[in-house]
Amino acid sequence: MSAASRERGGGAAASPLAGMELAIFDKDGTLIEFDWMWAGWVRELADRLAAANGGRRLDDVVRDAMGVDIETGRVLPHGGLAATPMARLREALIEALTVAGAASPRLAPGEVPRIVDAAWHAPDPVVLARPITDLRALFTGLRRAGLRIAVATSDDREPTERTLTHLGVADLVDAVACADDGRPVKPNPAAIHWLCRMVGVPESRTAMIGDSPADLAMGRAAGAALVVGVLTGVGGRDSLSALADLVIGSIAELAADVG
Ligand SMILES: [Mg+2]
Repeated sequence: MSAASRERGGGAAASPLAGMELAIFDKDGTLIEFDWMWAGWVRELADRLAAANGGRRLDDVVRDAMGVDIETGRVLPHGGLAATPMARLREALIEALTVAGAASPRLAPGEVPRIVDAAWHAPDPVVLARPITDLRALFTGLRRAGLRIAVATSDDREPTERTLTHLGVADLVDAVACADDGRPVKPNPAAIHWLCRMVGVPESRTAMIGDSPADLAMGRAAGAALVVGVLTGVGGRDSLSALADLVIGSIAELAADVG
């Protein structure tokens, strides 16, 4: 092993994160599959609506109202889920079912409030979270290569901590910055500055990894040494390339080869 790789903490030579001492990950779309999470919730909602509607399925109405392809799990870019605040989604569903009920014998319009009441449930991020890769293996390898690990998310602390515990990586994450912590949100760099202070690593030895332009703009504004875009979430290659040092398919490509 060379002196240089010893200095880096043991040779993460195969990882784009070589030379870094802190990796800050976004959560939704970076560590976990954003589309799948919402699609799973919409599938469950469709099942519960059918149960409340005497077994008559309303999947087509749900799919159109929510903007999710229930078969593939794809969230359509201009559909209900992508473009409507959570608080409005329930009303949007009632409106769509009322229109559908007027046109179809599957559903009596007067029944719509009852079946939506019976079926509606808040999405549970713990149940719905699906990791992009084996997070425990990835984080363990990065830590062996000398990196500390943090998460900066636009989700709140309680569901974020429950999700990391459910994914079996809470003990591998050194610090977590969440939307309800009271700091300015992305792309403001406050979360990165705070995480660097918490972990004791300077921004000049820190990488920010995320799926959205806001993640990458935050990394740049904070002066992070490396800004990495991943294509597993909302951002496409074009929108991320303009802000990133590097765009990769997924966090799986960050795995450190520590032999
Ligand atoms: Mg994200």
